[in-house]
Amino acid sequence: MEAGRQFTFERAPLRVYWELTRACDLACRHCRAEAVAIRHPAELTAAEASRLLEGLAAFGDPKPHLVLTGGDPLTRPDLFALIAAAQALGIGVSVAPSATPRLGSAEIRRFREAGVEAISLSIDGSTSAFHDAFRGIPGTFERTLDAARAAHDVGLPFQINTLVSQETLPDLPAICLLAAELGASRWSLFFLVSVGRGTVLQQISPDEADEVMRWLAELAGRGGPPVVTTTEAPHFRRVMLQHRVSRARGHGAGIRDGNGIMFISHTGDVQPSGFLPLTAGNVRTDDVVSLYRESEVFRTLRRPDLFGGRCGRCEFHWVCGGSRARAYAASGEPLAEDPLCSYEPRP
Ligand code: SF4
Repeated sequence: MEAGRQFTFERAPLRVYWELTRACDLACRHCRAEAVAIRHPAELTAAEASRLLEGLAAFGDPKPHLVLTGGDPLTRPDLFALIAAAQALGIGVSVAPSATPRLGSAEIRRFREAGVEAISLSIDGSTSAFHDAFRGIPGTFERTLDAARAAHDVGLPFQINTLVSQETLPDLPAICLLAAELGASRWSLFFLVSVGRGTVLQQISPDEADEVMRWLAELAGRGGPPVVTTTEAPHFRRVMLQHRVSRARGHGAGIRDGNGIMFISHTGDVQPSGFLPLTAGNVRTDDVVSLYRESEVFRTLRRPDLFGGRCGRCEFHWVCGGSRARAYAASGEPLAEDPLCSYEPRP
């Protein structure tokens, strides 16, 4: 990973996050989607979903990886049909299910048999008291551990997602140990962006973020498992470069909202990520490939030389570029600097 090299993803996203539904039985304190109990009547229909998958296949090879998220994807009765349809088009699939009674060992085995490449599970506290308070439903912590063990038993790789905020900061080392004990292949730390229900949580300071990232860089340097990655904190790559972490894996240089990442909402809106609600168009009426390659929203997000403040001047901006979602949440301007970064670029 070189700081000066221009990492852009003009042809196709590496990952497409498709929010199949906003229906979910949990009530997480930081839910981006502000999930609700009942499926929205305007969700994409089975026929529209099928057309969308064909649209994604039209990006050509290598095709983007598809992450089916929500809400809870298991609330859609056609989930396994969609997985099969994606795979028939040569699109690899991961799933982000919610830890509810819908997610039993039978479903985990079915994911494995269906060829799902990985699932993600959320752990925001190392004890049931802490985690369940976050998730809003007692018993969710134990259900999550059961799902992780079931995935491990059938050989289905799983990622643990953890929120980084003032509320979770002291517990991160214990959560890290838990993820390793469970056999997670990846530990992904999501640095809070104040959108959705997340606005009630407390952001950490830029110095605290740097401290966490230095610790993560040390962990990444050991090579895992689990592999350590971040979401909405691309400055982790700057920290790794500064610390010359050579064994780090899974840290795609330059990938950020709109550059390598595309999000499709439950009603078909196409956005740079689930945390950056700028709509380029809708899959019901627009060609998804054209939206990614040609829309103004996506094209400008691939140009860190256009970014404002420190992110515009920064020598790391091609590998990092800052969280565009956090810049937007903080200032209403998606090209502004990421306020969670402490770095002062060279004059
Ligand atoms: S100033 Fe911006 S581009 Fe530079 S490291 Fe910080 S977040 Fe990344």
